[in-house]
Amino acid sequence: MSYAGPDPDDFDECYRGDAPQEGRRPGRRAVLVTLAALVPTALAGWLVFQAVSGPGESEPPRVLPAPGTSSSTTPSPTGSARPTDGSPSASATPSKKPSHKPSEPAGAGDGPLAGKVVVIDPGHNPGNFRHTADINQSVNVGNASKECDTTGTSTNSGYTEATFTLDVARRMRAILERQGATVKFTQDGTRAWGPCVDERAQIGNKAHADAVVSVHADGSAAGNRGFHVILPASVHAGGADTRPIVAASKDLGERIAGRFVQVTGQPPSNYIGGGTGLDTRSDLGGLNMSTVPKVFIECGNMRDSQDAGRLTSGSWRQKAAEGISEGIVSFLRR
Ligand SMILES: [Zn+2]
Repeated sequence: MSYAGPDPDDFDECYRGDAPQEGRRPGRRAVLVTLAALVPTALAGWLVFQAVSGPGESEPPRVLPAPGTSSSTTPSPTGSARPTDGSPSASATPSKKPSHKPSEPAGAGDGPLAGKVVVIDPGHNPGNFRHTADINQSVNVGNASKECDTTGTSTNSGYTEATFTLDVARRMRAILERQGATVKFTQDGTRAWGPCVDERAQIGNKAHADAVVSVHADGSAAGNRGFHVILPASVHAGGADTRPIVAASKDLGERIAGRFVQVTGQPPSNYIGGGTGLDTRSDLGGLNMSTVPKVFIECGNMRDSQDAGRLTSGSWRQKAAEGISEGIVSFLRR
């Protein structure tokens, strides 16, 4: 193989694959059934999207939904005139201002999210590949010790997850700051490696964030497709106690899943979550060590060619950022 990019085996912290993990399988069926019964948000949203979307439709102005409502957005066709790979992320968003705030200034302090703090955690770090000893150091995640951070995965053509997560995160920042939120990053491509997963959680905690979202893309087998949002399980061990944030994080994750599926057209995962687009895990340090509402989102599978086509598209990443952001806004205005 001529592939010379990151080691395909260097999956991210959130990658689960098919390997059984201690403490995960028992009760998994019950969790899935419960989620499917109580919260078919993502799947319902996907079905709505399927019903309302059609070829050749143009994209209407998008207005962020009011609390308790859902907007009838329709994703534009792929391959639009928007910049694709390599485009400066923040520059691709100005046309997406909500129509009801035509002169809203950028930055925190004004807008419907004034006073709200959002921490965005771009998964991994483009420099992690060059700092294996640093990212392999062990950190405590409450119920276990695990590596500080991982390299993340990549597409078969070498587009890295760390590049993807930073790009989506920056697009989200532009969207959320226009709504008046204060947005903080765990890393913005300016540090050599990391931070470690426990530090990523601490950054959200110290910011007293109203919501934290960790952005990822998965590295699973070809044919495995779709997105899923990872919710914190109830973990009370060592320095971890997620019990106070489980319910709010679930609410946050459901709202993000519901908006993501509608805005991006990306279906819920066909390999995790039983079609709900939701999964609950107790093995992620970034969730275990959080004291504020937090979820991960795996936007797609970088190792699947169809998903990779989306993940490497700048216009699709903009939709991903909008979908996640709309879920956050819905949560913060609930
Ligand atoms: Zn990841």
